[in-house]
Amino acid sequence: MDVLFNVPPVTGRELEYIGDVIARRHLSGDGHYTKLCQNWLSGQVGGGEVRLTHSCTAALEMAALLARLEPGDEVIMPSFTFVSTANAFVLRGAVPVFVDIRSDTLNLDETLIEQAITPRTKAIVVVHYAGVCCEMDPIQAIADRHGLMVIEDAAQALSSLYKGRPAGGLSAISCFSFHETKNVVSGEGGAIAVNDEALVERADIIREKGTNRVEFRRGGVDKYTWLDVGSSYLPSEINAAYLWAQLENADRLTETRLAIWDRYHHAFEAAEREGRLRRPIVPSHCRHNGHLYYLLMRDRSDRDALIGWLAKHQILAPFHYIPLHTAPAGLTYGRANGDMTMTDATSARLIRLPLFDELGAAQDRVIDRVLAYLGEDA
Ligand SMILES: *Cc1c(COP(=O)(O)O)cnc(C)c1O
Repeated sequence: MDVLFNVPPVTGRELEYIGDVIARRHLSGDGHYTKLCQNWLSGQVGGGEVRLTHSCTAALEMAALLARLEPGDEVIMPSFTFVSTANAFVLRGAVPVFVDIRSDTLNLDETLIEQAITPRTKAIVVVHYAGVCCEMDPIQAIADRHGLMVIEDAAQALSSLYKGRPAGGLSAISCFSFHETKNVVSGEGGAIAVNDEALVERADIIREKGTNRVEFRRGGVDKYTWLDVGSSYLPSEINAAYLWAQLENADRLTETRLAIWDRYHHAFEAAEREGRLRRPIVPSHCRHNGHLYYLLMRDRSDRDALIGWLAKHQILAPFHYIPLHTAPAGLTYGRANGDMTMTDATSARLIRLPLFDELGAAQDRVIDRVLAYLGEDA
């Protein structure tokens, strides 16, 4: 392929910082660069305690442990999401209860949440798809009414805002990803933001193999010991150093993506007016981060034909999620609550266009080839 879908960004100082980690002789977690990243992220989410993890998947697993889920407990979430959103909770024996998505933002449809609540429901996991925030005010109100915890899968939403408030700071616990496909990357990486102070101490124990090693390092106890369940969720300083070089440039990376996004959006305006396709919809109270640009085509065959046409022209443009309620593990471990029409239709019609920091002039080719496809068909 001449035009790839994603190329992970490099901002310039990654190697220098990794070299510094080697010089400091501190390679394991929670060193200089981890602290820099955590402080930056804490400021970003509005003051919550942030801990780096080795992936968003790991952060979600920590969230499931913090929620004290027991086998048979239910967690409401969208089906139109990445596997880890559900798998982290299934690992605790919980049951993902899938709810359909809104037709505009493709986020969890908050008007369908309440009818999915049962006496076993413990949490609602929201996913800010494409960096556009879910309707967090009504969702939090539902959670408060029923005594549920809200967890944000903010993997795609670093720097996004909902009514001026940052994604990742809108619930008790939120999870970020720095996987190489995201806006800001460290290869494999993630973070958990704990916005409920009462959960911070246990988060540190869970992240350090179930021990109070963090308190020990602070000098609070003279030896550390096994206190609770946990695992090893710390990334190495080498990963944190790469991430710090990216976070220092996070605003610039977001601006570049937004410029690419805006350009696609303008290019396909006429096609949408003619009813040929549907472009992303961003509510006016949400500021997105340019994480991804998608088009919704007429149906599956139209979408698949466009993917094939672009591949023939050496452009990689993939579809996205296979709904989790239709996947083998989704059928085994979860259940759909109600009709999943929008999820199924979206999965069939959606195509993602190349969008990455160094896309540059190749974007013209993508736009030109998509418009040529639409013209052939006209
Ligand atoms: C990327 C992504 C994840 C997983 O992130 P990792 O860091 O690869 O574990 C989880 N949820 C969503 C919505 C994602 O986009």
